[in-house]
Amino acid sequence: MKEPVIVTNPERCRNCYRCVRECAVKAIRVKEGHVQVVPELCIMCGSCVRICPQKAKNVPSSRLDIIRARDEGRKIVASVSPSAPAFFDMSTFSDLEKALKEIGFHAAEETAVGCNIVALAHREYFEKGSVPMPVITSTCPVVVNLIEQYNPDLIPHLAPIVSPMIAHARLLAKRYGPDAYIVFIGPCLSKKKEMYGESISNLIYAVMTFLGLQEWFVAMGIECKRSTAVMEPFPEKARLFAIEGGLLGTADMSTDILDNKTIVASGLDACHDVLGGIRTGQLNASLVELLACKGGCVNGPAMAGLAGGVTLSRQKIIEYYTHKQPDLRIPRDDWPPLTRTYLDRREDVPEFSEEQIQEVLHRVNKFTPEDELNCGACGYPSCRQKAIASLRGLAEVTMCIPYMRSRSESLRQVVMDVTPNSIIIIDNDLIIRGMSPSAERLFKCKLSELEGKHLSRLIPVLDDFYYVRDTGQPIYARRRRIRENIIAEQTVVQVEGQALMVAILRDITEREGEREKFNAIREETLQRTREVVSKQMRVAHEIAHLLGETTAESKTTFSHLAKLLQEDGDK
Ligand code: SF4
Ligand code: SF4
Repeated sequence: MKEPVIVTNPERCRNCYRCVRECAVKAIRVKEGHVQVVPELCIMCGSCVRICPQKAKNVPSSRLDIIRARDEGRKIVASVSPSAPAFFDMSTFSDLEKALKEIGFHAAEETAVGCNIVALAHREYFEKGSVPMPVITSTCPVVVNLIEQYNPDLIPHLAPIVSPMIAHARLLAKRYGPDAYIVFIGPCLSKKKEMYGESISNLIYAVMTFLGLQEWFVAMGIECKRSTAVMEPFPEKARLFAIEGGLLGTADMSTDILDNKTIVASGLDACHDVLGGIRTGQLNASLVELLACKGGCVNGPAMAGLAGGVTLSRQKIIEYYTHKQPDLRIPRDDWPPLTRTYLDRREDVPEFSEEQIQEVLHRVNKFTPEDELNCGACGYPSCRQKAIASLRGLAEVTMCIPYMRSRSESLRQVVMDVTPNSIIIIDNDLIIRGMSPSAERLFKCKLSELEGKHLSRLIPVLDDFYYVRDTGQPIYARRRRIRENIIAEQTVVQVEGQALMVAILRDITEREGEREKFNAIREETLQRTREVVSKQMRVAHEIAHLLGETTAESKTTFSHLAKLLQEDGDK
């Protein structure tokens, strides 16, 4: 299948490349800042899902598909991985079965039933003797993918036996008929890919992780509760299948680590070592149980984060197994078909010339072998391998962290050097971390004297800085008297995602000085004008007053005179 099973949420992804570093087969493409799993390269180990610090990688849940099938009247039948007792609080399988029935499952059974017959089938195959040695167990789909996609020359060593999930699904399909909608529930993501396998179409309809099931229980208000142990048939040692050595133990074969004939290896690194040993012919073993997750399925990717880790999970599985109850063995004649074949699924890796590789290396300033730091920060073990990944379209040329860092430092330095404004970088404790040359000139000091010192050594009033730090809100171009002799427009911003602030100071001391001078002159002129006007007013007032008095006197005199003249005339 070419559809991605593991998806990346671009909103959450921070392009930290941790998933690329973790992926043992480099099946992750980084393109235009987007990180995606490449289905045809992925072996479904789930390490990227487990490791992503942002929880940006996930496998979409099948819950809605199951609900739809249930509502259409299909019989939903669960096959539950033997790791369940490490995840759910259960003392018997009936505890979990009861909870599953409450959300509409028709029936549930332990995949351990399938584990049992698969383990015995491995023993039968091994005991035939005429097969390529060592035989590699085929129960872990990630190991099968690793061999088919990356080590196809070792396919003849793989036991041609289906996984317990498929063996059990075949038993369930026979028991519950064509209406059965079989759902595998477990800790493993690789089953999502396995269920689409060519030979098993329309057998398993959905794969759900324990985490997905638990979320469903929570949403429905259902709890898987421990009951007092009831007698229930169980598939013997197959309940131990989830821990390393489980297959050999179930098949009653030696799990003695001092026995050179059988090897149990878990974890992808160990698997690589074992496969390398088989290829070179140096490994003498006859049977190798390989599991991709360290410690076994009990440490599958969907078990991540369980309190107590793999050791406690292992202990819970063993406790669960030791509730001795009647055996549930499928008679040999009732076994479903268990054989399978394998395909060489290796993707062709194009060859690139030395010239092409060098051209990519030059683009990130790697001109000599000494320039190749091989630091692994990009996710690739060497600069050369990253260059090849870039040529294959899996990595971006600029994913080189030291290159990006030196580039951003030079860019930052250019900005710091040429800007006329003063830039000060401080951390959230207000400790000076950087200063532009213009800031050094403004404050008449050197960064070397102040780096690591408190900002109050430069700027006495720090209210704006506390405000920005505590609220995250920026302050733009606020006029501030920074010191007695410095006035500036002060911008303070928090650097997103970092405990740093940047202050940009535009020196306006001269302009403000001019303005103050102009204001003083204007004030003085106004004052003088006011004084002159008021003096004029006073004089005018006095003149008017005097004029008023004389006018009144004249008026009286003239009236008197006129009256006398009138009287004279009458006479
Ligand atoms: S681990 Fe991968 S998916 Fe997760 S944030 Fe980093 S780059 Fe993105
Ligand atoms: S699941 Fe494994 S192989 Fe696939 S991309 Fe993630 S880390 Fe790589």
